Amino acid sequence: MPTAYAKHFKPKETPQSEPVREDQVKNSAGGFVWTVDGWTRLDRFLVLGTEGGTYYASEQKITRENAKSVVGLIKSDGERVVSRVTEISNVGRAYKNDAALFVLALCFAEGDAATKTAAKAALPKVARIGTHLFTFLEYANSLRGWGRSLKGAVAEWYDAQDADKLALQITKYKERNGWSHRDALRLAHPKTSDEAKNWLYRFAVGKVTDFADAPAFIAACESVKSANAKDAADYVRQYNLPREVLPTEVLTDPLVWEALLEKMPMTAMIRNLATMTRVGAIKPMAKWTAEVNTRLVDKERLTKGRIHPIQLLAALITYASGHGARGTNTWSPVQSVADALDRAFYLSFDAVEPTGKRIMLAVDVSGSMGMGTICGVPGLTPRHGAAAMALTVANSENNYAIYGFGTRFDPLNISPRQRLDDAMKNMNLPFQGTDCALPMLHAMKDKMEIDAFVVITDNETWAGKIHPKQALDQYRQRTGIPAKLVVVGMTASNFTIADPNDRGMLDVVGFSTDTPTVIADFIRE
Ligand code: CA
Repeated sequence: MPTAYAKHFKPKETPQSEPVREDQVKNSAGGFVWTVDGWTRLDRFLVLGTEGGTYYASEQKITRENAKSVVGLIKSDGERVVSRVTEISNVGRAYKNDAALFVLALCFAEGDAATKTAAKAALPKVARIGTHLFTFLEYANSLRGWGRSLKGAVAEWYDAQDADKLALQITKYKERNGWSHRDALRLAHPKTSDEAKNWLYRFAVGKVTDFADAPAFIAACESVKSANAKDAADYVRQYNLPREVLPTEVLTDPLVWEALLEKMPMTAMIRNLATMTRVGAIKPMAKWTAEVNTRLVDKERLTKGRIHPIQLLAALITYASGHGARGTNTWSPVQSVADALDRAFYLSFDAVEPTGKRIMLAVDVSGSMGMGTICGVPGLTPRHGAAAMALTVANSENNYAIYGFGTRFDPLNISPRQRLDDAMKNMNLPFQGTDCALPMLHAMKDKMEIDAFVVITDNETWAGKIHPKQALDQYRQRTGIPAKLVVVGMTASNFTIADPNDRGMLDVVGFSTDTPTVIADFIRE
């Protein structure tokens, strides 16, 4: 027998623990992968956030790494950073606005004059409500403190509000993280010749003692504090008062919620579904139940309200469970409302034109995907998020199969015809290692004809005897199909299994509202 040299060295098969090319780096699991560029990483950070950390890195560590990467981008092209932040925030591509506000604060702290000017103009578009402004102030304050450009930007934020909007801001969004309008106004000193606005500024800093010349809206906010439920409902209808200004005692009465529902913004409606069900404003076959269900599946309302799929997914899981995460609140979930939330989830992504291609959806269900959270949503691990992304693609395609892989490869028992809260229950799986080459290897072994592999993962692959790129090359060679690979990144790391030199591979960011359309466009091309 000859010495088994050929067995020990196959030129087209490299274990994932060794690099396949010089431009690879070691991921957190010890496997070799490529890195995405800073801009893709910025998108991952803006869309997925770092709250709750990952299996491999604490929230603190992963935030610091992302911030460093962002500062590099700000130094090279700060205006592009501002415009990316503005776009993602403004269109509502991300569930949480916090990362956008943090990056904008970084632009003030680290940017050149042109970047700061751009950031100043972007602030009212990214910080759209008082809560956003306070979060921004907290970030800016801890990064560098108060410079002139920052004070000017905050003054301009107030300048941009007309009197009615300002009245709503200072009553509905009073404070956050220890910041209030009083603090912000004292630092920024906005000046206006508008008498109504000047009154509101004095009111916000606590200098108003006489309400005789208060605007009607503010007067109503004051009067409602001592109103009973019926009168509170009348105030709500007459002055369009938001829930935040009502005394808690009246919020147990369905009359008040029915009045609020007449003009309730979508975010508030989704956030309060459980409460409204608990107090009886929403119940089976009730008038308002039908209206709520209609609004939930209204694509235009979802878009205008910047309703993000993660908000709907989180709302559905909580609502259908019938009890709050904390506390003792319980309710009997109304089936039609849960079903409407499920439909709304799919509608809240940009509309997809089906590709008609043969698509394998491969969800990384390995151990690392089961730790940490997406955007800090309790229970929404990258693995749960990956499953939901697979269902989103499946929902618009006809020719697909969904698999789960770690170091094994199995059909994943979920379907878009299943309600998401049920599908999510199937995602609590035992611990496994990670081999991102398995989808291609399995397709090869079973002679499956696949136009596109969509691998939804944290890119922490390490266990395989062959790199995903090599497996895809083999698949292409043996089948003659120029199969593509889409990598849907589910954590804010800079790793990817996609070869940047292979035009048949694409990195997309998990859970942006345009992720399904970007995937479909690439597969169709
Ligand atoms: Ca893993």
